[in-house]
Amino acid sequence: MNLHDAHNHLHDEWLLPHLDRIAAELGTAGIASAVVNGTTPADWPQVSALATRFSWVIPSYGVHPWDCGNRPDDWLGLLESRLASEPRAHVGEIGLDRWILDRAKPDDPRLAGLRRAPLDEQTGVFTAQLALAAADNRAASVHCIDAWGALSDTLRTTPLPARGFLLHAYAGPEEMIKPFADLGAYFSFNGSFLDPKRQNQRNLFKSVPPDRLLIETDAPAMPLPAALEKFSLPPSPTGTRLNHPANLAAVYDGLADFLGRPVKSLATQVEHNFRRLYCD
Ligand SMILES: [Zn+2]
Repeated sequence: MNLHDAHNHLHDEWLLPHLDRIAAELGTAGIASAVVNGTTPADWPQVSALATRFSWVIPSYGVHPWDCGNRPDDWLGLLESRLASEPRAHVGEIGLDRWILDRAKPDDPRLAGLRRAPLDEQTGVFTAQLALAAADNRAASVHCIDAWGALSDTLRTTPLPARGFLLHAYAGPEEMIKPFADLGAYFSFNGSFLDPKRQNQRNLFKSVPPDRLLIETDAPAMPLPAALEKFSLPPSPTGTRLNHPANLAAVYDGLADFLGRPVKSLATQVEHNFRRLYCD
């Protein structure tokens, strides 16, 4: 079986000290390709270096909504020239996030030092990046938390890539799956949804059209339940539990179990979907 990680951050500074071991274990676990997402101009060179080193890395570049408030003035020109020099690259991680404005704690360590951009500013940055993806027909990898109505409004009024776009770790309303799919959305299942307490998120994937289903780790973020982990890493310097991207195989197994279908048939379906969105 060839397994494909639709969304991760392999270049993350917390994974880099372990990169040689991780790359070897990804091979052991059958991971055939991974879309590696930069989130700010400062980390795009690391994504690019990984794509040069590993042929199975598919690079993707964007300004994440959490990084929107601290973006440099020339961010859009930097993105245009980065994409022009890398024809295989896609666009992401981009998106909208109202959680950082309404629900995140003021002292959340993941947001330390970040200016939390208001939603209209996030929307402008998101729309400009979608337009770049649409112009070159590159896939867009989209993050959305607590902003589903705004996301729907933006997607309906902005040019979109003809090949489609990914709603990564989809946890939006069930009734929006079909309208998003009609706009070209793919939906990726994340290993953290295998947590027994996240039944609502798991159940959403019974409504995802089979030809729009993808699987992801979001490594080093969003670890799967510890009991299901096949590969582990030491915690980050700040004590955060890290998700090893080779756990993708366990996510395939968990989703196949949940959907009641053989993992081989699931993997074949996901491979077709992955190639259609990222490779064809
Ligand atoms: Zn991500």
